[in-house]
Amino acid sequence: MSFQVFGIPVSRGVAIGRAVLVASSRVDVAHYFVGPDQVEAEIERAFRARDEVAREFETLKQDLRGDTPQELAALLDVHLMLLHDEALIGAATQWIIDRHYNAEWALSAQLEVLARQFDEMEDDYLRERKADLEQVVERILSALAREQGLVPVDAASVVQRDFAGEDPLLLVAADIAPADMMQFKRSVFHGFITDIGGKTSHTAIVARSMDIPAVVGTREASRLIRQDDWIIIDGDAGTVIVNPSPIMLEEYRFRQRQSELERARLARLRHTPAVTLDGERIELHANIELPLDAQGAIEAGATGVGLFRSEFLFMNRDGELPGEDEQFAAYRAAVEAMRGMPVTIRTVDVGADKPLDRMSASELRHEHVLNPAMGLRAIRWSLAEPSMFRQQLRAIYRASAFGKVRLLIPMVAHLHEVRQILEAVKKVQQQLNDAGHAYSHVELGVMIEIPAAAVMLPLLLRHVDFVSIGTNDLIQYTLAIDRADEAVAHLYDPWHPAVLQLLASSIGLARAAGKSVSVCGEMAGDPAFTDLLLAMGLRSFSMHPSQIPSVKQRVLRADAGRLATFMPEIMGSEDPRHEAELAFARNKPARALQ
Ligand code: PEP
Ligand code: MG
Repeated sequence: MSFQVFGIPVSRGVAIGRAVLVASSRVDVAHYFVGPDQVEAEIERAFRARDEVAREFETLKQDLRGDTPQELAALLDVHLMLLHDEALIGAATQWIIDRHYNAEWALSAQLEVLARQFDEMEDDYLRERKADLEQVVERILSALAREQGLVPVDAASVVQRDFAGEDPLLLVAADIAPADMMQFKRSVFHGFITDIGGKTSHTAIVARSMDIPAVVGTREASRLIRQDDWIIIDGDAGTVIVNPSPIMLEEYRFRQRQSELERARLARLRHTPAVTLDGERIELHANIELPLDAQGAIEAGATGVGLFRSEFLFMNRDGELPGEDEQFAAYRAAVEAMRGMPVTIRTVDVGADKPLDRMSASELRHEHVLNPAMGLRAIRWSLAEPSMFRQQLRAIYRASAFGKVRLLIPMVAHLHEVRQILEAVKKVQQQLNDAGHAYSHVELGVMIEIPAAAVMLPLLLRHVDFVSIGTNDLIQYTLAIDRADEAVAHLYDPWHPAVLQLLASSIGLARAAGKSVSVCGEMAGDPAFTDLLLAMGLRSFSMHPSQIPSVKQRVLRADAGRLATFMPEIMGSEDPRHEAELAFARNKPARALQ
């Protein structure tokens, strides 16, 4: 039966494919396809791991002492029974045969199917056996992981990663932590659906950076959608259509083709300089998460990197953080890839929904820290870990010997933080001089993400070379809305008059002080805000590379001087969005390119 699920659209486009349900805790299980000639070997891997766990259980049973409670022996019997049940291992091998999933993926896919069946059982005792099944599968997954560890396999020789399977696959999960999203970059999935999250949650940001359709905040998609269901993700409307009718499928395939044509048309703007109709040159920079992303930035026509979110280098590390040399290599790779264009490296912004270890954001939020968005996050964390901070500064400074590097500090709220940063920079320069490492001049910038920083901007501007406005957090902290919480997503409003006041005044104050100012939050990459930001006087935007062509199209059609004349009306209006839409539409320049 066909039905729809509604959520928040976070990454545009249409994706059509089969659902892969993954529980949040198992998102980091390896997901890859095995080639047709590897299917047998993969099935054997699954059986070997199953047999190893069976031996563990048998040994445990034999070792039980006479005084061990009866229940424990009975539990081991239940686990052994589940382990040998055809519905688990037999059905999992069917996923390997039919879909060419690797063994880990096949097992977790089958676990999701069985877990659903357990959830629907009337009998309490039977329903509770789901936990046993999960434990059994976790053990098999551990055995598979151990096997990979013991016999280091050359993934390329064993696994044909190019083998793409027959149908596109769309990931459905209750939640995906940003660190796990990073595992999925360049993965097999063509789209994402999650139950929780907001438009500017970091999971959504990574989905956008992958430029694949995504819908978050659906609340119950992972409960309603079944493994292998056919689904359509409409990433523009925020709709998920489950088991679509042939007519619906046809309509969405048509829309998919249309949007590919539109992308191809926009891609032709790549070499066109971003200059408004009245001759204002606009910088369109890229936001990147990894050095590899710099290639995408160049291909999209970016004129620099406006935000390198360095914290992604610190994720998926199993507790071991990257040292100075490793960071230096990463920053240098990005700087060299940008071939002389500026690269703005932001110091690590961990905390809130970007925890350092494998804990999911929701675990962190509820169990470990009272209020992580307001806690030891970003620069607060760096200043609390001074040697780690200096290590990162040294790596960034060393990369400056290879191109134009700018240093950006997140979440600044106090002048004493800026003073501490300046002191750390001085110390680091001294250390580099002593060690004979080369470096060039590095401009220092702070992010305007906390209303306090926007209000006291004239004081901050005395100490820094540039500012970058992080609208994602600025909106979150101005309106007191958790950006990752779908329950309040409807109140997260970039058009709120208070947000517009802070934005307009920050841009105006920085320009008046002769300091460069850019916006690197998601507003900068949304063409719906391009006219508004140009009207406020913004001349530097930083966004996901995939957004650059559509924002550039807006820039090419804009008359910045004329747009600015509407600002008093917009700022004085009780409905600035409506006012801006009317004003900008009424006054479309006649010479605009079509
Ligand atoms: C922002 O807050 O707008 C920003 C760019 O930083 P992040 O999204 O990484 O918090
Ligand atoms: Mg931020």
